[in-house]
Amino acid sequence: MKPEDSMTMPDGQGRRVSHTTALAAFDPKSDGGAVQPHMVEASTYVFTHADEGRRAFSCAYSLPPRSQDDPTKPTELIYARLTTPSMNVAEKAMMALESQAQWAFLFPSGMGATTTLALSACHHPFGGDTPAGGLRRDVVLYAHPIYGGTHALMENVLPRFGFYAEPVDMRDIDALNHAVKFYGDRISLVLCETPANPTGALFNIRAIAKVLQERYNDATRPIFAVDNTFAGIFQHPLEQGADVCIYSATKFLGGHADLIGGFLVGKHGRMSVVSSFVQGIVSAPLMNALLGNRTILGFTPSSEMAHKLFKHMETYVLRMERQALVATVVAGWLSEHAKISKVFFPTLYTGNDAALYRAQMTGPSSMIAFELADCTEEAAYRFLNAMKLIRLAVSLGFIGSLAEHPASMTHSDIQPDEQLKMGITPGLIRFSVGIEEPNDLIRDLAQALAHV
Ligand code: PLP
Repeated sequence: MKPEDSMTMPDGQGRRVSHTTALAAFDPKSDGGAVQPHMVEASTYVFTHADEGRRAFSCAYSLPPRSQDDPTKPTELIYARLTTPSMNVAEKAMMALESQAQWAFLFPSGMGATTTLALSACHHPFGGDTPAGGLRRDVVLYAHPIYGGTHALMENVLPRFGFYAEPVDMRDIDALNHAVKFYGDRISLVLCETPANPTGALFNIRAIAKVLQERYNDATRPIFAVDNTFAGIFQHPLEQGADVCIYSATKFLGGHADLIGGFLVGKHGRMSVVSSFVQGIVSAPLMNALLGNRTILGFTPSSEMAHKLFKHMETYVLRMERQALVATVVAGWLSEHAKISKVFFPTLYTGNDAALYRAQMTGPSSMIAFELADCTEEAAYRFLNAMKLIRLAVSLGFIGSLAEHPASMTHSDIQPDEQLKMGITPGLIRFSVGIEEPNDLIRDLAQALAHV
């Protein structure tokens, strides 16, 4: 198979993202003709009249408008913890890149995005009995494997706020149905990552959405969020039934390993949410709740980061397409190496996983996981220590290739027996492929594997 063959689905389904998309999100006319937006450093903005200030706050805080307010008038800039011109440009680009997106909000990190979503979705921390006999509290169902930081948020942080997070093997739709039946209307958020970090496991977005559609009505349905960081341009979860996509913009969107950022991107929809500006739990547009909570929790990114991120987003599609091509060649080579027992990469999947890949994604992205035949930490370390061109570093989506050891690095907060259940073995390497020449990477892999 030629590498290009893996880039489009055989049946021609799915939407390719145009290279023009992010570039077109900025209109030079809006910024004095400059081809790149200016960055505004100001933390606060002048109102032309006190009534403008009042109106701006009533929009930002979702307060009832006064009769003289013109609802079509754009909202004024107020204060940089609410929003800034640089954030607006990056958010507009993200909205254009994610099919069916009706809003996009930038956060100072991917974790900031996930935390804001979880705290907006969860309520009822105290009182009442659960079917399990414990305290009544809201439940987050999360698929595993999942990024180690998200796992820590679920297991160690949410419980301290009185919420309960339960890992569910969402590759098994019966297991999801069982959890949904058991926890019923107390489920506030269903979260999965596909392909999942670090093993590349695929979850069926349409099948998960169907379970939630069938079990709940619009008033009671939990928010369904998909972390799309690994898949990027090659998967559009909102088209397939998700309410929200999560991105660590630190990864492919940024692509240059010089910033930390995150996005929540979603569709309109009223949800039962916690909103900073209304007391109690309200049925409110999810978008308004997230925006208000970002402001009050203080999860607002800096203008510097937003400004830099937008410039990197202009080449995001180009980079991801190149990285996927390089990864396809390298994954094929790895799959034939005698010292490697397993390679996890979408174009190499067989059976149901291959069918799911073709139905759900338009290309493989560039995250490979592979397991050494000598499946020990010692062998993995010998390999990692011998790499020359490939950098031994966490993070992913960088234009240069990076490799790391999930069991002792990114996923080390997970107990060893849990790690094994998720497929995180001592001999597993996570490999983020960059834009290099495939043959240069293969040469480096070959010499590093000679040390194993
Ligand atoms: N989601 C995934 C899939 C990740 O890999 C990461 C970080 O590695 C995050 C979320 C968190 O993103 P950040 O590091 O930008 O907070």
